[in-house]
Amino acid sequence: MESYAQALLYAIPFFVVLLAIEIGYGYFVKDQKHKVLDSVSSISAGFTNIIKDTLGLGFILVTYPILLENLAVFTLESTWLLWIVAFVVIDFAGYWNHRLNHKVNFFWNQHVIHHSSEEFNLACALRQSISNLIGYFPLLLIPAAFFGVPNEIIAILAPIHLFAQFWYHTQHIGKMGWAEYIIVTPSQHRVHHAINPEYIDKNLGQILCVWDRWFGTFQEELEDVPPQYGVLKPASTWNPIPINFQHLWRLMQDAWRTKSYLDKLRIWFMPTGWRPEDVKTKYPIDIIEDVYGFTRYDTQASIALKVYAIFQLIATTLFLWFMFYNYTEIGVSGLLLFGFVVFAGIYGYTTLMDRKQYAVYIELFRGIFGLVLMLFSGDWFGLNNYIVVGSWLVAIYFMITIFFGFYFTYFESAVHNRKTMV
Ligand SMILES: [Zn+2]
Ligand SMILES: [Zn+2]
Repeated sequence: MESYAQALLYAIPFFVVLLAIEIGYGYFVKDQKHKVLDSVSSISAGFTNIIKDTLGLGFILVTYPILLENLAVFTLESTWLLWIVAFVVIDFAGYWNHRLNHKVNFFWNQHVIHHSSEEFNLACALRQSISNLIGYFPLLLIPAAFFGVPNEIIAILAPIHLFAQFWYHTQHIGKMGWAEYIIVTPSQHRVHHAINPEYIDKNLGQILCVWDRWFGTFQEELEDVPPQYGVLKPASTWNPIPINFQHLWRLMQDAWRTKSYLDKLRIWFMPTGWRPEDVKTKYPIDIIEDVYGFTRYDTQASIALKVYAIFQLIATTLFLWFMFYNYTEIGVSGLLLFGFVVFAGIYGYTTLMDRKQYAVYIELFRGIFGLVLMLFSGDWFGLNNYIVVGSWLVAIYFMITIFFGFYFTYFESAVHNRKTMV
């Protein structure tokens, strides 16, 4: 996990620069594809994902080295050809995993976060899961293990393969000529994120689009069908943490409520969206039917709240940057504590962005928790080694958090603007 934290130290500035370019470009051509609260929510989702993944939370079914040890028939030299083959094998596995995520109820839960934004931009790419709690992906790499692809190659290629899926989440790049036949492009991925009946569940490839073309899931972006982004059962919150479990919660409720024992068992493995007949009539769920006419989620946000959301996002970025930079020094229990504080922070400020009254309690709790943690240790995880007044800056941050938790809940009009279906 330490190497992943290391990779992120390089990747994060790269993502920030590309995001800044996209936002700047949108501003200059007067075609802004970002909305402040949505983008803050997306980037925060990315943060929850990297905390979960770097801390190695979850249950790993099987690791690649174990498969390699037991299945390898060949021993291959690490040549440039092997690197290319390994990349293609990872991409092939990625296609099927993505298809599984889209097509099966249980697996959709861990992927819905990625589709939950009703915008489409580079920030949306960062909406990554924290509910992928069972690490089964290496099973899809059995062919690689069989041919003896060394673990080091997989370990280096896997994050590169993931980060290379970032750039194509943009509306500012049109069709790309001959490249459309080989790789996944922005145009193809716009189709993937769209809920139009023509587009839904199409273009499941990650880097190469040949799998979609071969296995019948390819759909070109059509001029007269502008993609409408989001999910059919809207998330209706800026808080990425509940979005990760909304679908699972609905499945659990349905499995509990249905009278049919067969349905209780099979609901998990049925196609995404399938529900037992009896609960479907008794507890209907709103699904977007008119993809061109639904109201996108929004909350009453003053300029002050938007600026404050950006401030919290920057603070969270700095906290995480510091955490990854000092990954080894902080140690396992320190990392868990640090990760918890950042998680609580994201939960708090996104709930404030949702204009929920109880946000103030979360902000008060985490503010006091942070201050107490700092007072007891007399430092903030070694920050004073870098900046003499480091812990004081952190103390000020937590005091600001408490103050604005109260301010936005009680002193600024909190008119709830709930999503309505038209
Ligand atoms: Zn998807
Ligand atoms: Zn995507």
